[in-house]
Amino acid sequence: MLNNKDQTLVEYVSIIAIISTVIIGMLFYGWKEVWMKTKNKERTLAIVKPDGMVYLDEIIEAIYNEGFTIKDFYLKYLDKEILKEHYAHLIDKPFFPELVDYMTSDKVAILLLEGDNIVERFRKLIGPTDSKIAESETLRGKYGTDKSINAIHGSGSREEAVIEIERFFKDRRN
Ligand code: UDP
Ligand code: MG
Repeated sequence: MLNNKDQTLVEYVSIIAIISTVIIGMLFYGWKEVWMKTKNKERTLAIVKPDGMVYLDEIIEAIYNEGFTIKDFYLKYLDKEILKEHYAHLIDKPFFPELVDYMTSDKVAILLLEGDNIVERFRKLIGPTDSKIAESETLRGKYGTDKSINAIHGSGSREEAVIEIERFFKDRRN
């Protein structure tokens, strides 16, 4: 059995451990990430690509129907510089110049989305990269054409989402 003094010490150490965990979490992930985790909320980045823009209303409706929240969005013509960052993992692929031509061919909509487990759920909603093999109820299945022209982007992982949100929303308050 612990005496009163030991119990107070245990409580004291527990409180310090909790506070340290929160501070370390904030240092590693940023205060917003830690705050979102405590609320069980998650964010992801979506881009309605040039070919998807004619279906923007339907895509927003699908996002709404999933129970996701649009925290911020804007329309923009992307340039090659930002695409070299955004698609850095594809820069050496032979199709990269075509990808840049496609993504700069018209305005896109850039959306900051929030919801429970949204990174994974949003990828499910949009379907696989190739619109030809995507199920017909997915957004890529409905509105895309093939593995290049596929209507919509969604962050591939939580880590990717944090980086992409920073890339596209760093200058905006949200
Ligand atoms: N892409 C392409 N050809 C390919 C693979 C990808 O043109 O063979 C394009 C396509 O628009 C895709 C984007 O590059 O959405 C990014 O590719 P990634 O492998 O990251 O797929 P995603 O995460 O978009 O499903
Ligand atoms: Mg990807």
